[in-house]
Amino acid sequence: MRSVDGTVNEALIADVVGEVLRRLGTDARGVGEVRERISSPAAAAASGKQAAVGSFGVFSGVDAAVVAAGLAQRKLAQSPVGARAAAVDAIRAVLRRDKEELGRLEFEETRIGRLAHKFEKLDLAASVPGVELLRTEATSGDHGLTVTEFAPYGVVGVVTPVTHSVPTLGCNAIMIVAAGNGLVCNPHPNGARCAVEATRRFNQAIVEQIGIDNLVCTIANPTLDTAGEIFKHPQIQMLLVTGGPGVARAALASGKRAVVAGPGNPPVVVDETADLDKAARGIIQGAGYDNNLLCIGEKEVFVVQAVAEPLLAALARHGAHRLSTAQMDELATRVLHRDETTGHWHARKEYIGQDAAVLAEVIGVRIDRAVPLLFGPVDERNPLLPCEQMMPLLPVLAVPDVATAIAKAVQYEHGFKHTAMIWSRDVETLTQMGRACDTTLYVKNGPCMAGLGVGGQGYCSFSIASPTGEGVTSPLSFTRYRRCVMVDSLRIF
Ligand code: NAD
Repeated sequence: MRSVDGTVNEALIADVVGEVLRRLGTDARGVGEVRERISSPAAAAASGKQAAVGSFGVFSGVDAAVVAAGLAQRKLAQSPVGARAAAVDAIRAVLRRDKEELGRLEFEETRIGRLAHKFEKLDLAASVPGVELLRTEATSGDHGLTVTEFAPYGVVGVVTPVTHSVPTLGCNAIMIVAAGNGLVCNPHPNGARCAVEATRRFNQAIVEQIGIDNLVCTIANPTLDTAGEIFKHPQIQMLLVTGGPGVARAALASGKRAVVAGPGNPPVVVDETADLDKAARGIIQGAGYDNNLLCIGEKEVFVVQAVAEPLLAALARHGAHRLSTAQMDELATRVLHRDETTGHWHARKEYIGQDAAVLAEVIGVRIDRAVPLLFGPVDERNPLLPCEQMMPLLPVLAVPDVATAIAKAVQYEHGFKHTAMIWSRDVETLTQMGRACDTTLYVKNGPCMAGLGVGGQGYCSFSIASPTGEGVTSPLSFTRYRRCVMVDSLRIF
């Protein structure tokens, strides 16, 4: 098949062959063979040329991608677990080696966040745990021996957000492949080009290590329709979606086993016992990071009145720029909009993830581009409080006491049960807030990223599954528990 300029359209051939074989019920191996003949990954790798669509995991159609990922997964399932470890190491190596190139690509495509943080996030994605978490459980007794092992599902359908396109894809690929699965990703359309390039590089590196192509597949021109096809595809055994309320609802309604990493609006409580300098530094670090694109990032502060002014002064002392209440109100009406049907406030797309200096300019305030965060005292009418704004713009509400601060934190977190922070040295208060908020991540006396192992104990993931309860996802989130029982034998004492 040739396109108008006369070149062979390999993608179309692969997709059509895949579809025909699927309808004929032919073994998926046929697709892989045909695809390999029309576009040899080895040849592309050797020539150093960018792989065509339909090789190294890049597909234009969902069907062809699912068939290819299924074939790759079956090959992986027949290989030792060491092959999974090698594939995971290959993905990690690409994330570390190419962090500047891929980070720059993502920044130039999405135009949100901060370039230096794109590099850091790719390093962080490389640290996500792999096969080391898959330990067999065993129990022996008078009735024999039972082992519980963590088996793969098959092919996992993945949806990733624009806020961290390549980090989420890399992190998800490590976890899902470590668990023995393949995956097909529908990235956010505005972060698809960098996801495609990362996919190509991941597969190239995996092929070099274990000779299996297409373990990580990505749809090159993703749309809501291709996401819908993934949600309904009979050969996709489970879903992992990371994004806002719309995609969370769609995945939960799909009828498939779904791991849903949904939205948040993380509150911060500061009481009169807090170390205010430490709190200010931590709040700036979390809320300013990548211009507040993190779903776990501090979005609003509730401070006890007695220490409100000292906290505001500390935030300014540590490098954030203070706005007045009137300026916070004016800026909120410019960078947010109200949905007249629901009454909910939403961030205007053009301001999401922009620098504090760009936001300040909207109301005629000039500040240095390096300033990480704008903040200011607000009253409760300011719509920044309920809105997951994803901007370095932090409303601070003073309240009479810590009980009120905790109640407001619960109210403005909207029951997402995602993430909450507190700065306090009162153990009773720390416990009360943890119980009241009931969030997946609850960080005491640290910035949000401490909840993901950056400055706190624990491992990292870019998909925090609150609605479906897996929490900070790991390879175990993508496994089926299987029990194998030997009756009356193998007891050695
Ligand atoms: P978004 O919801 O606009 O898009 C996320 C992904 O879902 C995209 O790939 C998009 O194309 C797709 N999508 C959206 N609606 C869909 C639908 N109805 N059916 C199928 N697919 C659909 O979010 P975004 O702006 O890309 O990312 C920011 C959001 O993601 C925030 O709400 C943030 O809290 C959340 N997020 C959550 C986590 C987590 O771990 N819980 C991590 C990162 C981001």
